[in-house]
Amino acid sequence: METVAQRYARLRAEVPAHVAIVAVSKLQPAEAVREALRAGVTDVGENYVQEARKKFALADFLPPVRRHFIGHVQTNKARAIAATFDMVQTVDRPQAAEALEKAAAALGKVLPVLLQVNISQSDRFGCSPAAASRLAMQLRGCSNLRLDGVMAIGPLTDRSSEIAAAFTLAASVWQSVGGPILSIGMSGDWREAVAAGSTMIRLGSSIFGPRPVRAASNDPG
Ligand SMILES: *Cc1c(COP(=O)(O)O)cnc(C)c1O
Repeated sequence: METVAQRYARLRAEVPAHVAIVAVSKLQPAEAVREALRAGVTDVGENYVQEARKKFALADFLPPVRRHFIGHVQTNKARAIAATFDMVQTVDRPQAAEALEKAAAALGKVLPVLLQVNISQSDRFGCSPAAASRLAMQLRGCSNLRLDGVMAIGPLTDRSSEIAAAFTLAASVWQSVGGPILSIGMSGDWREAVAAGSTMIRLGSSIFGPRPVRAASNDPG
């Protein structure tokens, strides 16, 4: 069986050099994250703030490793998210922007963020493409947030024409929003994402292997 280090090395060699890889470690143990960091991973993504805090404390995260929040932003967790992460990829509505702005100001930091746009019927979150410019304007007015680009989740389908169309939509929203980062592409669809102009892909299972199942009783935060 391939190790985390072997999988990461193989992917890093295959993914074009200008495309950043975020290793998504949700539900994976801290030891797997440590292994990824030893293998040269520079960006780690987590979906749940509580889980991430515990893991980051165990995994000896040192700069320049960047911690990306890629889960849904609940406004009551904005403070914890702003304190725990170096970038928030999932700002999808005015209330999330407002809460993170307040939290970052209280912490005295400028928090890099991406605007999450909804490009597929199968995604519950993300702002509509039509609302993206307005949200981008709001974000640019936040002195403690720095809008770095756009993030989107591809559709849950095997049809590559559908995937390509969705990613093309994300790229066109990115053009209007601006910023250096277009975060699209996961383990199953990163090739289509790179073809559409992705500058950052988020890989979970292709680096860490299958995810352990989340216990139903766990606090989702
Ligand atoms: C879980 C997750 C990923 C990684 O998914 P894989 O299919 O395991 O690569 C990427 N992005 C987001 C937002 C996720 O929630």
